[in-house]
Amino acid sequence: MGLSPNAGDYQRDMDEHKCNACGSNDLITVTMTVDKQVVSFTACHNCEAKWWFRDGQRVALDSVLDIVAST
Ligand SMILES: [Zn+2]
Repeated sequence: MGLSPNAGDYQRDMDEHKCNACGSNDLITVTMTVDKQVVSFTACHNCEAKWWFRDGQRVALDSVLDIVAST
């Protein structure tokens, strides 16, 4: 259908970030770098679930706060 490789990557990324609480893909993601690690925060507009990824791995909020506190 003429999709570029970038478009394919984007679609896969969205699937990975689908809300696993309500299944919505109406999400907001904020990516930041904390102590040289890429940390992203995702929140669901539909049910307000929130979760974090660090280096592509889903992590608990506490572990993110530990990184922030150590800087
Ligand atoms: Zn949700």
